Amino acid sequence: MHPETARALAERWAALPEHVRTPAQTLGRHAVGCEGTHGVFPKCNLTCTPCYHSADANKVRVDGAHTVREVGRQMAYLRERRGPYAHAQLIGGEVSLLAPDDHAAALQVMRDAGRSPMSMTHGDFDPDYLRALVTGPDGALRFDRVSFAAHVDSLMRGRRGAVRPRSEAELNPFRARFVQMFRDLRAETGLRFYLAHNMTVTPANVGQVAETVREVVGMGYSMMSFQPAAHIGDERRWKESYTAVDADAVWAELEKGLGQRIAHEGVEFGDPRCNRLAFGFLAGGRWTPFVDPDSAADRAARDRFFAHWGGLAFSATPPVLLLLKVARVLRHHPGDAVVAVRWAARLVRRAGGVRHLVRAGRAGTLGLMTFEVHSFMDAADVGPAWELMQQGVEADDPRIRATQERLAACTYSMAHPETGQLVPACAQHSVLDPAENAGLRRLLPLTPV
Ligand code: SF4
Repeated sequence: MHPETARALAERWAALPEHVRTPAQTLGRHAVGCEGTHGVFPKCNLTCTPCYHSADANKVRVDGAHTVREVGRQMAYLRERRGPYAHAQLIGGEVSLLAPDDHAAALQVMRDAGRSPMSMTHGDFDPDYLRALVTGPDGALRFDRVSFAAHVDSLMRGRRGAVRPRSEAELNPFRARFVQMFRDLRAETGLRFYLAHNMTVTPANVGQVAETVREVVGMGYSMMSFQPAAHIGDERRWKESYTAVDADAVWAELEKGLGQRIAHEGVEFGDPRCNRLAFGFLAGGRWTPFVDPDSAADRAARDRFFAHWGGLAFSATPPVLLLLKVARVLRHHPGDAVVAVRWAARLVRRAGGVRHLVRAGRAGTLGLMTFEVHSFMDAADVGPAWELMQQGVEADDPRIRATQERLAACTYSMAHPETGQLVPACAQHSVLDPAENAGLRRLLPLTPV
């Protein structure tokens, strides 16, 4: 394990509230948590209801030099605090409003800091933009692999060709077109990619989640993420009460859409009230979890993984070095090889057997698929909870105390090198964004003076 990873994981575990230190907990064992940028390109050219950005976001100019400089500062701080490897989102407005070269420079700065970047977009950009982003002036690829999360749902207004969508189904061609853009470029240049599909869920569209899952799950995304709406960000964009839709309601729709249980209890990521994650893969339309929470053998294998392998950054380590590291761990824990083989055998059986997997592979229907529900919290709760946390005070009000517990186990942090803080995204959007955007309005006015 990289010593800085070991330190960051140990710090993360030590700071976690007791109630999330479960055997299934990934934070502090295998992951330090996800990271996101803030205040680097607040503007967006679509309107969503709700929108988590502050009311001032569209009064700030997109400025590539500012973006790259601030992303660099934030990533350097995350590298220092969270160790040499983490997933980080390039987020804070609409990323495709950045010029392709500025977008590429921001991704490079993130990679240089050991981050695995993901660009968060509404997906309404053209293939030419993607090509200009991933290829340099000589036409060669500047990145071997890119990650994008496309936020597409019927609560968004202004998408070209679907300015006011009346249903989720109306957006399916746009969802498919987004994946196709990457496939076409892969065929031409060899570019590898990871795509996630994000969808905000409110009472207005929760009844369409099952159908959307059925349509989107085979399109080529590797993750489907749902965000039950919260009262956070721009108040003018709160069109209805969002309290009626929670993680359970969304998960029930997800399972209805797939016609099967989606078992998520085997692995936890932070507080289950914030995150519900199911890691697994699809084969021939059927999803299989990597850890079956009902299997004692799977749970034991997971525990061994966290204990002996948790600190290895599998996807971030060069292949030869990774092989050496694997050999070294096996030398200390030779029994793990047998456990791994038995786990793999159970996994293949659960997924329908070798023949089914081979058939699915040949038909192009075999692939990783993670399902996620991430439930942001209302600003009215986060504001007082965060303020008390700054004073080191535990709230008396049970609702605010629950909010503090979730903030303490946050999996999605934003860096503030100027104050030496890592701030949960909920607190960033609820408390810090308005003042930050007011400052950015002065720094980057729409009309330079
Ligand atoms: S505290 Fe907020 S940003 Fe952090 S994991 Fe929970 S819902 Fe997400």
